[in-house]
Amino acid sequence: MIQASDYFRQFKDSQEITEKIRKNADKLLSKVCTLLSLIPYETKLTSGFRSKKYESKKGRSGNSAHCTGEAIDLYDPDKIIGTWCRANEAYLKQEGLHFEHLSVTHKSEKREGRWIHLSTRPPPSGKTEFIP
Ligand SMILES: [Zn+2]
Repeated sequence: MIQASDYFRQFKDSQEITEKIRKNADKLLSKVCTLLSLIPYETKLTSGFRSKKYESKKGRSGNSAHCTGEAIDLYDPDKIIGTWCRANEAYLKQEGLHFEHLSVTHKSEKREGRWIHLSTRPPPSGKTEFIP
């Protein structure tokens, strides 16, 4: 079970977190927790909410769905969640969940560098598994 406090972590008191972002996060976490209840695998949160200020410091645009409470990254070194999502695309579609193409999120040699990015924000392509 992933709580909102885990999702917002060090950003929990950020001025950037609006009511809308909290609502987005609640919706995302509810869908993700239901999804995880269907997969026999113990994952952990790799990255939750990220402020635009933080993204800017890292040289990123701040347009990420992580900044609006619409995306989460979960540890998935062996593609267990990813493989399940690919096999159950109709379920994800029905839930309004999207995930980054596994070729993008699983290219690292290191286990810690492989995750699944799940999002409630549809990508421009509208695809369930999308190239960011
Ligand atoms: Zn992500």
